[in-house]
Amino acid sequence: MKEKTAIFECKMCGHCCHGEATVSVSPKEQKKIAEFLNLSVEELKKRYLRPKGNITEMKIVDGHCIFYGKDGLCTIHPVKPFHCKRWPLHPSILGDENAWKAIKADCPGFSEDATYEEVKDLVRSVLNES
Ligand code: SF4
Ligand code: SF4
Repeated sequence: MKEKTAIFECKMCGHCCHGEATVSVSPKEQKKIAEFLNLSVEELKKRYLRPKGNITEMKIVDGHCIFYGKDGLCTIHPVKPFHCKRWPLHPSILGDENAWKAIKADCPGFSEDATYEEVKDLVRSVLNES
């Protein structure tokens, strides 16, 4: 298997932190983020999170995640939610090449030379690590 970076390497373009959709934050992740920001979980929820159905997710401000920094970097990088850490190597890629094509269209981190099989192997290796 190729080096991971020959298949995917984040270009830190920030595209995946923009838009009106965001990701869920589990209670365990909320606790870690609250500790990182030196806040209570209640204060974190009030300032940075919002309920959506049965889940809690991050607020969107000015078209991007509330934790997206002015320098283009994630302000909670060491404790960002699992869904952010894993992105764009999403399990849906395993079942459908079109899912990968759709993700690739929005993420410039995939190498132009990467094949679907290589990307699937990479997704599997990330799933085995998690
Ligand atoms: S869209 Fe892709 S390359 Fe850009 S920051 Fe997100 S993961 Fe990295
Ligand atoms: S937590 Fe960080 S990586 Fe995740 S969407 Fe927000 S700014 Fe982006």
